[in-house]
Amino acid sequence: AQKQGKSSFVLYDASMQLELQSRMKMEARLLSALDHDEFKLVYQPQVDSSTGRISGFEALLRWENPELGQVAPDKFIQIAEDIRQIIPIGEWVLLTACRFLKKLHNSGYEGYKISVNISVIQLKQEGFVHTMADILQKVDLPAEFLEIEITESLFMESSERNELIAKLDQLRQLGIGIALDDFGTGYSSLDYLRELPITTLKMDKKFVDPIEQDEDSRSLASAILLIGHSLGLKIVAEGVETASQFHFLKTHGCDKIQGYLFSKPLGEAEVAGLLSKWDDGRA
Ligand code: C2E
Ligand code: CA
Ligand code: CA
Ligand code: CA
Repeated sequence: AQKQGKSSFVLYDASMQLELQSRMKMEARLLSALDHDEFKLVYQPQVDSSTGRISGFEALLRWENPELGQVAPDKFIQIAEDIRQIIPIGEWVLLTACRFLKKLHNSGYEGYKISVNISVIQLKQEGFVHTMADILQKVDLPAEFLEIEITESLFMESSERNELIAKLDQLRQLGIGIALDDFGTGYSSLDYLRELPITTLKMDKKFVDPIEQDEDSRSLASAILLIGHSLGLKIVAEGVETASQFHFLKTHGCDKIQGYLFSKPLGEAEVAGLLSKWDDGRA
């Protein structure tokens, strides 16, 4: 028995070793990924549920490394945050997303908005508000077309929560929209809805998924819509995959829909292709 114990310890140790090695490898690759041009953005349409028209896009980051292949954001964002590399990466994301939108506007596709995911590490950074204002000015994009998406769980644990809220206020004053992402997951508290200067609520996929299945789930989804609307927020439902989910959400006043039912995240050329088919408002 002792022998077995020992060998399983060795195995465990070896797998820990491997994990550490792969983690360090990913950190090293992340540090050079920007210089090597390994990131790109894809854009997922958000559809106005009452008109059925695209109102904007969420920018989502993609990383392809020659050695690691395609790495999903869920696998690398956290690591990029841990090593603070999310700061330059996040700045690249903002600049690239704003330039993309400006290009659309310049091609006659006016009125579309862009939503960009922001890590709390970025928000905490000194001068973040200034960076945002600089980017908008450099790209010559009016602030009202930009929305940032933040997650709530990060505010809980932060000792700087008052400063963070003050920064969000400053961003609002610039005219930038603020969406609370993944609402209802993690450590959500309804109090955040009152406390944070947000303009949009993103209802997490976990509330959308079971809408077809049971009455309780439908009650919960419609209650979220009621609360959000009574606080003056716009609501975007995430991960909408079926027509009946869409029908329920639209009937209950959900403002916008995002999900595979309408479109997966698209590359820049695919967006142009989609708009040339769908946008009849082109100048
Ligand atoms: P998120 O912000 O909640 O993004 C939504 C995720 O759901 C995206 O995954 C999107 O591709 C996926 N999705 C959209 N519609 C559907 C659907 O109908 N069904 C299903 N099953 N999935 C759907 P993705 O692109 O893998 O991003 C994962 C997460 O990574 C994001 O979650 C966000 O938290 C983070 N992330 C992505 N890009 C960035 C970025 O530029 N900066 C930061 N800080 N985080 C990012
Ligand atoms: Ca998001
Ligand atoms: Ca989300
Ligand atoms: Ca998420």
